[in-house]
Amino acid sequence: MNSFTPNGLIVAHHGISVEVLYDNGQRRMVRVKRNSGHVVGDNVIVTGEVLKRLPRRTELRRRDARGSVHLVAANLDVLGIVVAPLSPGGFIDRAIVAAQSAKLQPFLVVNKCDLDGTAELLAELSRVYKGSVPIFPISAVERSGFAPLEEFLSEGHRGAFVGTTGVGKSSLLNVLCPDIDLKVGSLSLYKGMGRHTTTVSTLHALSTGGELVDTPGFRDFGLVDITVEELAEYFPGFENHRDVACKFRNCRHRTEPGCAVLSLVEQQRIPAERYETYMTILKEVESLQAAARSRDWKN
Ligand code: GDP
Ligand code: ZN
Repeated sequence: MNSFTPNGLIVAHHGISVEVLYDNGQRRMVRVKRNSGHVVGDNVIVTGEVLKRLPRRTELRRRDARGSVHLVAANLDVLGIVVAPLSPGGFIDRAIVAAQSAKLQPFLVVNKCDLDGTAELLAELSRVYKGSVPIFPISAVERSGFAPLEEFLSEGHRGAFVGTTGVGKSSLLNVLCPDIDLKVGSLSLYKGMGRHTTTVSTLHALSTGGELVDTPGFRDFGLVDITVEELAEYFPGFENHRDVACKFRNCRHRTEPGCAVLSLVEQQRIPAERYETYMTILKEVESLQAAARSRDWKN
């Protein structure tokens, strides 16, 4: 590589242009085609107005309200799953499976720990997820609990947050990177926008180290659907079965002979209620997949 084509990183995407941050610290806007496929986090070599994309380490995708799949960001390392009291059940498990499938390390952020009753929620989440993912209890309004989270992100990590509307993702991002300045509690901010408006996706370096990607549409709508295979492989709490393998490689841990998960449930090394949660999600994912298959078949 010669000195006239420095390496760049896409730090913002505005639909018809991207902002490239070069190795030497300079920034430049480069025009791109709408369907160029470049995303925030992409490493590129810029020659004139031409971007050459370098191979990606990871890709994170989301499904929009209409069901189309979009690439959200490239080369992320970690995915923060944000929850708060009254978060819907099942979200955490699906998000952990989706993150693992995309080769991102998931971690849990429990926000609103200033509220009454959070101790119970935290105890419950620790009991279920402690062996699977790091857990960070915080309060975005009180700005408390952030040091361990910032330390985790600073370990050379680039991440993004997901979570349902209202858990406090905007508030959390505002504390972690004040330059981002997101509106808090603005549930309909992006919904009312015309379809000519482009959602800006941005990458922010944190003053304490590490980087965060923010894509407004992604924050609320969440991840792509997971597959049965991914669920069976990555369901949190089934890690034990990595040293006691199931007999069949594509085991769904249902009635298969020689299933390590079933025997761990029998020995109560996997709690029965976790297995029930798995079965509930498995059935949902199976029927979604079956519906998608029959749609494809008809088309
Ligand atoms: P988002 O939809 O996930 O981006 O959530 P917002 O950041 O917009 O916050 C939704 C609501 O929760 C707002 O009214 C916030 O003031 C409130 N909120 C955010 N963080 C906290 C927190 O740590 N504690 C409490 N009690 N409320 C919070
Ligand atoms: Zn099995």
